[in-house]
Amino acid sequence: MTRKAYLTIDDSASERTDDLVDYLVSKGVPAVFFCWGENLENNPAAMVRAVKKGFVLANHTNTHQRASEKDVAFTIGEIKQCEFLIERIYKEAGIKKAHKYFRYPHVDRGTGAWLIDYDQSNVVTSGIIMEEIAAGVNLPDKNKPPAAAFDKKQQLQTYLKEEGYSNPFTQVTHPWFWEGEMGQAADSLFTYSNADWMLQPNHIGKWPYKNIEDLKQKARNNPWLNIDNSVNLVLAHDKTPIVDVTIELIDDMLDSGIEFIEV
Ligand SMILES: [Zn+2]
Repeated sequence: MTRKAYLTIDDSASERTDDLVDYLVSKGVPAVFFCWGENLENNPAAMVRAVKKGFVLANHTNTHQRASEKDVAFTIGEIKQCEFLIERIYKEAGIKKAHKYFRYPHVDRGTGAWLIDYDQSNVVTSGIIMEEIAAGVNLPDKNKPPAAAFDKKQQLQTYLKEEGYSNPFTQVTHPWFWEGEMGQAADSLFTYSNADWMLQPNHIGKWPYKNIEDLKQKARNNPWLNIDNSVNLVLAHDKTPIVDVTIELIDDMLDSGIEFIEV
């Protein structure tokens, strides 16, 4: 009877990445950091240090734009620039990098909030609603993007596959993670968001989870995190103002018995 999860941390580096890394090391928690290229340039030392301590760096584009709002060439340019900067970090760390992992900013895969098309008719959408999806709720057919957006998503998938991007979270047990197109996708989503970002100064109070206790309860109450023998894919963030929140939430997941595993 075990409950496991991969830990992924988006938007690195921040001014407090070292604190986050030190905390994870102290608890023996592995993690994949999906970095912005721009933030790698702002704080390369923190990410070189993270790589040397065994953490995995992955691509989250250069400047975190929504793929649905940009053309394919722009998004590919953003991915390339970020990958170039990640390569540079690994070189500086003296560690060979054999992987390419990618997550879209705002999990916008080219189709806006419309994340996954199981069979071109079902909806999976982003943000808070992700929780409902993970819980198996089938959302109404609304805000469906135009066919061109699905073409864009497909073109980007083709690019990612040709460049050797893959989804490393192979043990995830959520059916929807593998059903439909996600089973073949070259990018990474998540099955549980700790929603730490809702406590950022510019977001706090505007979302359903208003304080750290709310966010702890969200995890404690999440049915998927509490299934025996499950493996989840947890999304957290590396943002300067909320690093203490992020650490406290990870700590609470550890206290609840979740074991974090390596890719
Ligand atoms: Zn992000």
